[in-house]
Amino acid sequence: MTTFKQQPDEKRTKMLRLANRFPSTLYKGRITFLSEVYKNVITDKPTIKQAQKYPFIQDILKTELAFYRLSDADKNACLDAVLATDVHHRAAIKEKECEEDDELDYVDHLVKELLRWFKDEFFTWVNKPPCDKCGNNDQNKIRRLQARKAFRKEHLEGWASVVEIYKCLECNATIVFARYNKAETLIKERRGRCGEWNNCFLSILRSLDIESRYIRNMEDHVWCEYFSRKQGRWIHLDSCENSYDQPMLYCDGWGKKMSYVFAANNRYIIDVTDKYINPDKPEMRLAIDKEQDKHLQAVLAITNATKLVTIDRNEFMRLTSSLVSDAKKTAEKKAEKKKIKAATTKDDLLPRQSGDANWTKERGEDGQ
Ligand SMILES: [Zn+2]
Repeated sequence: MTTFKQQPDEKRTKMLRLANRFPSTLYKGRITFLSEVYKNVITDKPTIKQAQKYPFIQDILKTELAFYRLSDADKNACLDAVLATDVHHRAAIKEKECEEDDELDYVDHLVKELLRWFKDEFFTWVNKPPCDKCGNNDQNKIRRLQARKAFRKEHLEGWASVVEIYKCLECNATIVFARYNKAETLIKERRGRCGEWNNCFLSILRSLDIESRYIRNMEDHVWCEYFSRKQGRWIHLDSCENSYDQPMLYCDGWGKKMSYVFAANNRYIIDVTDKYINPDKPEMRLAIDKEQDKHLQAVLAITNATKLVTIDRNEFMRLTSSLVSDAKKTAEKKAEKKKIKAATTKDDLLPRQSGDANWTKERGEDGQ
């Protein structure tokens, strides 16, 4: 078999260009396309080897770990939390009320109700954790000391990535705040920052069998998306902000400049930066390393092709259909928006609501 390296230059360039356009090229002969990429690009050792020189790329490939396998205990904890509320009922009522306007179906309403419940009733935002000894929650009287690795049994069990240590200036007690990741633990703790909020909310969606994916912005924020069967699109969701289908929230609302945004599940990682940057504000895209980007896009294409050719046909068609439909519907929506643009200048997007004012300002997310 001729390897990719041995291909004539022209063909090699063409293959890489094809691979880079994943998933838009999925319109045409998906399986043929993927097996071609697989057969040819997978043996492109130089690309893989080059990419190993970039820690950034290695880091991106780890994004799929955020979409970890949920155990039965994780799923049950999520389902119990949802069943203890009346969100199902509220979603059913909303669906009935909106019968005339059939743009959304029951699942869409359910996701909306889940978002509202999650932010208003279920999860709590933590900047500095309150003192568990004296109850002090005066943020000025809690001092951050250090961050360390998990050191208690429960930290390991809850997959704490890091444990933050604080000191209560009221009673001198040490406050331990573990940044948990495991769904079952998050459902029990019900608190954290965007990482915990997103992991917990995404786990709830997944436990309900709602097709979803993890979204990672390289400037320290995460959120998620679910695939709306009714709307035929991947819909942006930010559980910290009770935000539904507002992809311009960060760019227009928070004034957040971003370099990259990736979408990942256990089947693929794709670059979705364009979806989250207002095309009229190219200055909101942070400068990227062009050389590194070329390698990154090739590596993502190879990784995705490798995974997608090994899954069974039904799942393959389901997965790629959601990508194809999303590309089509998003383009339609864009064209529609352009038409009615004259009417409104800016959606009512707000600066960041979660986190205190100073913290938000420091992160450049206060809309200024
Ligand atoms: Zn205290």
